[in-house]
Amino acid sequence: MWPSRQRLLATELGIQTVGDLLRHIPSRYVDKTSFRSISTLSTDDGPVQIKGVLESLEIIGDKRKQRLKGIFSDPTGTMELVWFKSITWVKSALKEGHAYVAFGKVTSFGGQFSISHPEMKAVDSTEAVSEEGYQPIYPLTEKLKASKIDSRFLSQLVLKIFKHPNFELPDFLPATIVNKMHFPSRENTYRMIHFPSHIGEAQVSHDRLKFEEMFLFQLRSERLRHERIRDIKGPMMKKPGVYFHTFYHDHLPFELTDAQKKVIKEIWTDMKSGVQMNRLLQGDVGSGKTIVAFICMILAIDNGCQTCIMAPTEILAQQHYDSLMEWATPIGLRVGLLTGSTSKKDRQTLLKDLEEGRLLMLAGTHALLEDPVVFQHLGLVIIDEQHRFGVAQRARLWMKGNPPPHMLVMTATPIPRTLAMTAHGESDHSILDQLPKGRKAIITLHHDESRRMEIMFFVKSQIEKGRQIYFVFPLIEESEKLDLKNLMDGYDVVESYFNTPQYRIAIVHGRMKPDEKEAEMQRFKSGQAHIMVATTVIEVGVNVPNASVMIIESAERFGLSQLHQLRGRVGRGAEQSYCILMTKGQLGQGAKERMDAMVQHTDGFEIAKIDLKQRGPGDLLGTKQSGLPDFRFVDLYKDENVIYLAREAAKYMMRDDPNLLRPESENLKKFLIAHNHDNFWSRIS
Ligand code: ADP
Ligand code: MG
Repeated sequence: MWPSRQRLLATELGIQTVGDLLRHIPSRYVDKTSFRSISTLSTDDGPVQIKGVLESLEIIGDKRKQRLKGIFSDPTGTMELVWFKSITWVKSALKEGHAYVAFGKVTSFGGQFSISHPEMKAVDSTEAVSEEGYQPIYPLTEKLKASKIDSRFLSQLVLKIFKHPNFELPDFLPATIVNKMHFPSRENTYRMIHFPSHIGEAQVSHDRLKFEEMFLFQLRSERLRHERIRDIKGPMMKKPGVYFHTFYHDHLPFELTDAQKKVIKEIWTDMKSGVQMNRLLQGDVGSGKTIVAFICMILAIDNGCQTCIMAPTEILAQQHYDSLMEWATPIGLRVGLLTGSTSKKDRQTLLKDLEEGRLLMLAGTHALLEDPVVFQHLGLVIIDEQHRFGVAQRARLWMKGNPPPHMLVMTATPIPRTLAMTAHGESDHSILDQLPKGRKAIITLHHDESRRMEIMFFVKSQIEKGRQIYFVFPLIEESEKLDLKNLMDGYDVVESYFNTPQYRIAIVHGRMKPDEKEAEMQRFKSGQAHIMVATTVIEVGVNVPNASVMIIESAERFGLSQLHQLRGRVGRGAEQSYCILMTKGQLGQGAKERMDAMVQHTDGFEIAKIDLKQRGPGDLLGTKQSGLPDFRFVDLYKDENVIYLAREAAKYMMRDDPNLLRPESENLKKFLIAHNHDNFWSRIS
């Protein structure tokens, strides 16, 4: 190949090796397996191929609107072939009276079928032509097309690879898996994905490529999980003690939901297993994760351990602290709070108490990660809203215990099952799939500016009933100044409807100092303020059960998961709650879909599915933190079944032959080592 073309393939498509080329699979195929006769044509057909004779060829029309018209016939009828461009060239290339296969999309013009710019292939006679199979159409860029690198060119290159005498693609999947899945061999998989003889072959090959890709990924997660279970001893816990019993029997503020009981049991089973726990707890907003965390913490404390819970924002850490205090004080447990704004003096005492093992329960922010924070015997770490924390941060908490503490990660961003299996395959999973009793489903409405008056009246009526209201404005991240202006304008609008002293308005935004924020939050929490005007700083975790209306301004600017989180700030008490999405002007397709999704669904998992479809997994999880690769073949939204099967297969491998010692695992081991998939595999001989 010319070096210039080689370079283009590398820069445009990242194709540098034979393997890259083979993995650049067709996006679709053109069916050249069968021929149509002219009498059976219809304009509903896709592109078709017809064998016949080019009876005549002439240029018609005046100089400015010239075209080339061919009459093409087969034993069943005649039709037209038309060219508007490259007329002279085409005319000289084709011969009247010769046999051709014409290929293209059929249209009808004045009762006559015709094909514009057909692909023409000369044949010796119409009887002698053989079928071509499916012709691969590859994803290409404009630059490539301009350099005459088209699908035909790529397919010729691929064909050359297959024809090379030294070509081989040994299978690395163990035979049992290949057989069980009814997959073709690896070599046939690649042949058939590029040159299927019927569409089913392309399908099964594509399935295998997806499976392989996901299997390798899942195998790695399973390996990590397996290693943890085998090698990493967790803090030893034996049985519930006096804190747990006192709380559970005498001070439980409400009856736990069945889901909460189930999840606590799962966590407790891990904590007393002797193996270090690594568990992900997913629970929709308002499902009651905090009390689950608290109960697990006192179970750990009963077993002589210290515990901490880490939140991504000061407001949230403060809120956890408040909840923990409320529950811990009656049973005589002290709680500490450590954030960036903890005073130096408080901090010193707190650190000393931690190090000497006198403080057993601690809430905080990133401040917990810092080196001076030393525990005497840290046994359980809980991380709330984990998508804001990275892997590295988790590792730092890990190091603060010896043996490493049990880890529970809680997230309110429900992740569709397949994505959870993929992004968090090395963890065990628990799901809180039930809201506390007596909650009424939040009513969600979508309105535009024209309904502003009505909505403000509605808000007034709610305040008269004793309820509280949120107005949330979007962050405009490019500019903090604009951001603040946006919020202040919003504040002015709200104030123009709700003037003091009758109505009191609190305000919270990202540029306030922590103690100012806290003071305003407190004004709202205590009921002194009727209305909270805020940016998304209140997105996660704020708990004011008396607040019953959430008004989201410029809702079209928010992503789905954010809208869902914001909505979750209401509906926390027994009252009917409302979420009102205010938008401005004509909405784009995506924004419209998001508003509709919010109005139709209250279930976070449904919302998450739609979000995944709209934004892809990277945005949903924050790619950098999720550690998810870009999958080439697997679509995390669509390929639920493949992901599930690949995960099952990986689990089976790990159970059946964890060190890949059997003869039939030989090729897999070689492959993993050669592709440096996981340096673990090169460690075992
Ligand atoms: P999230 O899962 O969003 O963190 P929280 O832990 O903040 O939810 O709980 C939301 C609200 O529901 C809190 O006011 C909490 O006290 C209350 N709650 C939690 N569990 C129950 C329950 N089983 N019955 C009644 N209320 C509950
Ligand atoms: Mg929470």
